[in-house]
Amino acid sequence: MINNYFVVRSSGVHGKGAFARKNIRKGTRLVEYIGENISAEESDRRYDDTGVKNHHTFLFSVDKRKVIDATFGGNESRFINHSCDPNCDAIIEKRRVYIEANRTIRKGEELAYDYNYERTPKTTNADERMYKCLCGSPECRGTIVSAKVTMPKKKAAKKAKSKKKVAGKNKRTKAKTKKKAGRGR
Ligand SMILES: [Zn+2]
Repeated sequence: MINNYFVVRSSGVHGKGAFARKNIRKGTRLVEYIGENISAEESDRRYDDTGVKNHHTFLFSVDKRKVIDATFGGNESRFINHSCDPNCDAIIEKRRVYIEANRTIRKGEELAYDYNYERTPKTTNADERMYKCLCGSPECRGTIVSAKVTMPKKKAAKKAKSKKKVAGKNKRTKAKTKKKAGRGR
């Protein structure tokens, strides 16, 4: 697994991390987040039981239907850690995910993007604690769970319909969720 822009090695705080091999210009596409493409239901089947105790999964939820499970067929992108004040963004394009530098990154810096785990009305303080953030940035919100609440699928769809608002799909959208944090309890 060789990437032109970064190397994966152990990161003091959180296991492995990805570190810039050289100075990287803002906007540079560093890697595609790949893996097995599965449905949201399948990802729940795979990880719901053990997920509560172990959130060390490599899931990226692209949209309501598509989840990438980098445990299978994933590349080095799965070692890029979370930060609340990240130097990379996860960009979704045509339902594929790319990690791009959102500012100039210096050689040796650790790469990170905001995982923004989905927060639903069911997300609890315990969920927040389970996904405690250790990014250490002054902007740290204390948890990897997103600050914003995502409404459950059906209600959100209904709401959108009643307002006659069509969710305009941007060609380039920032990833909103890496994976689900709410475990439907
Ligand atoms: Zn943080």
